Amino acid sequence: MGYNVTAIKIDPYINVDAGTMNPFMHGEVYVTEDGGETDLDLGHYERFLNINLSKRNNITTGQIYLSVIEKERRGEYLGQTVQVIPHITDEIKNRIREVAQNYQADIVLVEVGGTVGDIEGLPFLEAIRQMRLELGEHNTMFIHVALVPILSVTGEQKTKPVQHSVQELRRIGIQPDAIVARCQTKLEPEAKKKIALYGNVPEHAVYSSYDVETIYEIPLILEEQGISKYVSEKLGLDYRKPELGSWRDFIEKYKKASVKKTIAMVGKYTKLKDSYLSIIEALKHAGTSHGIRPVLKWIEATDIENGKIRVEEVLERVDGVIVLPGFGKRGVEGKIAAIKYARENNIPFLGICFGMQLAVVEIARNVAGLEKAHTSEVDPHTPHPVITLLEEQYRIDKLGGTMRLGAQPIKIIENTLAEQIYNGEKIVYERHRHRYEVNPKYLEILEKAGIRIGGVSLEKPELVEFIELRDHKFFFGTQPHPEFKSRPLRPAPIFKGFVAALK
Ligand code: GLN
Repeated sequence: MGYNVTAIKIDPYINVDAGTMNPFMHGEVYVTEDGGETDLDLGHYERFLNINLSKRNNITTGQIYLSVIEKERRGEYLGQTVQVIPHITDEIKNRIREVAQNYQADIVLVEVGGTVGDIEGLPFLEAIRQMRLELGEHNTMFIHVALVPILSVTGEQKTKPVQHSVQELRRIGIQPDAIVARCQTKLEPEAKKKIALYGNVPEHAVYSSYDVETIYEIPLILEEQGISKYVSEKLGLDYRKPELGSWRDFIEKYKKASVKKTIAMVGKYTKLKDSYLSIIEALKHAGTSHGIRPVLKWIEATDIENGKIRVEEVLERVDGVIVLPGFGKRGVEGKIAAIKYARENNIPFLGICFGMQLAVVEIARNVAGLEKAHTSEVDPHTPHPVITLLEEQYRIDKLGGTMRLGAQPIKIIENTLAEQIYNGEKIVYERHRHRYEVNPKYLEILEKAGIRIGGVSLEKPELVEFIELRDHKFFFGTQPHPEFKSRPLRPAPIFKGFVAALK
């Protein structure tokens, strides 16, 4: 519609950011340009809106309390009793306003995470209630997203949960302007009527968000139901017809992509696919641009390590191998075995972050002959720490917020695969999230073993960003995470290169 939109995710947990949270429980930690470690929903916002967000776009209870308590200690509230209302709620509103100003946004979408009725969500709901009062009806809109379960025995859509959550919202002073009903199937007219009646909204303000082939279709199905008109009306904006052409093209291409290619996804959080959400999305974007439908074969690295599955068997018929990012010891030998297999059998390989570091370990061990080579993250006493903490990081002993984070410029080396991948660009920006680095002391030995450096940090050229193998169909390791910058209409070059190599 041509409006300038930004989005905020509110996470009512007490962690200051998502950096220290377990990907098993919370899914991937998304990294922003400015190095924020955020909720994965920021990734969705960036992909859907095709914009870059900042760490300020993810607000947590931890951040709010931290700053209020710091202010209290500095004496900024001298003489006052510091309370949830107004001090915490003021802080929340200020954060929202600050983001709006920073982006010069016409519209700020604020998603309050969790479920209505959660104790920890209350201050945030109270803050947005106050915001409507302050900004006025026409400057605010409440959209309630609620689940409509289907009783599997009868197939009936149950609206009771929505009825109750709306009641709960109204009890604290929020009347939704629209309700988005999340349900497996399209809302039946009966269910819609009920939701409108009990939810106290007109029927045309009840939107059905049902299962579709790809999440990227959601804006289209909501638009079919007239959402943009209603939102414009509510916010007192001129109605502008949304320009959805290129988005529609993408979905059409996505659905038409028929060449199936199997990619082995080797990692240790494979049971919760959300742990690798941006990578999965990046593969869809890259696949679509090549008419390829990636079929992901999840391989638990520990299963290879324990001998539960054999690497030759699981990788025999795949078209490519990705060794996923990660931390710590578990599954490491399994990942190294997968890298060895891909290298020796000329299978396209992409190592992301930890996956790249372990590729260096594998080559150091099996090609350069440094038998006990390792990353000092896993084996602090290895005689050959080919991956290690560099000097300036040695002094760091806390685990929260001590990584190399966010977008940094990378200098692409000439005549490399990296140069091809990035289409001849000389400097590129990718986002980082790691502590360990390729050890510069081993560069010569590694280069002799066939590794070529594809890119180095522009500011600190001793830091290796990309590695590749000379005599291989496609063997690429990336220290930063290219998946965070991939968009449906602008696939990440590294994923594009990898997927093209599967052909
Ligand atoms: N554990 C590795 C490091 O800290 C890699 C991190 C990652 O894969 N994101 O450097």
